[in-house]
Amino acid sequence: MSFYWTPHRFAGGALALDVANSVILRFDPARSVDRFAEPEQMDAFAKAAGVFSAERSLFGELAPVPSRNRLPFLALREAIDRYFRARILENDGYGLLADLLEATAAVLRRADKGSLEAATAHSALRLLADGEITRLKICGNCGWLFVDRSKNRSRTWCDMTVCGNRAKASRHYHRKKKEAAP
Ligand SMILES: [Zn+2]
Repeated sequence: MSFYWTPHRFAGGALALDVANSVILRFDPARSVDRFAEPEQMDAFAKAAGVFSAERSLFGELAPVPSRNRLPFLALREAIDRYFRARILENDGYGLLADLLEATAAVLRRADKGSLEAATAHSALRLLADGEITRLKICGNCGWLFVDRSKNRSRTWCDMTVCGNRAKASRHYHRKKKEAAP
C-alpha cells in the first residue's frame, strides 16, 4: 500500500508531537506501524513538515536527518512520546524529564541548523516551556498526541475529519449490532 504524508499526519499541532505520532497505533503492538522504519519515509516527512506542520513558519524548509543522526533522532522521538504521554495520563512526567532533556541534548549536539532533528528538539523544548502543556491531549481514536488550541479546550480527536468520523462510524456500527442482537 502506498503511503503519503498528508496534512492529517501533522495534526499534532507541534512538530515534536507530529514526530512522536509517526508510530501509528503505538498502544496496540499487533497493529502498530513505525513510519520511520524506512529512512526514505523519514526524509519524506522532513519535506512534508515544511508544508503541513503547524510550526512550519518557525523553521521553514527542513533538511532530512542524515544517517549518522538517525538513532539519536529516534531516541528523541521515543523520549518525547513517553514524557508528554505521562504528563497527560498521570499529570506526572517527573521521572522522565531527565531522559527527555538528555535525548534533546544528544540530538542538538550533532544536528545541523535547519535539520528535522534540530527543529524537533526545539519544538519539544517549546512545549515544555510555554505553558501549552496543559493543552496536550491524547486522541480518543488513534492515541496520537496533540495540542488542543480550541478556545474552550473541547477537542477529543487529533483530527475531526479522520478520527472524529471514524469514532462516529464505529459507534453507529456497534449500536446497529446491538439492535440486531436478539
Ligand atoms: Zn486521532
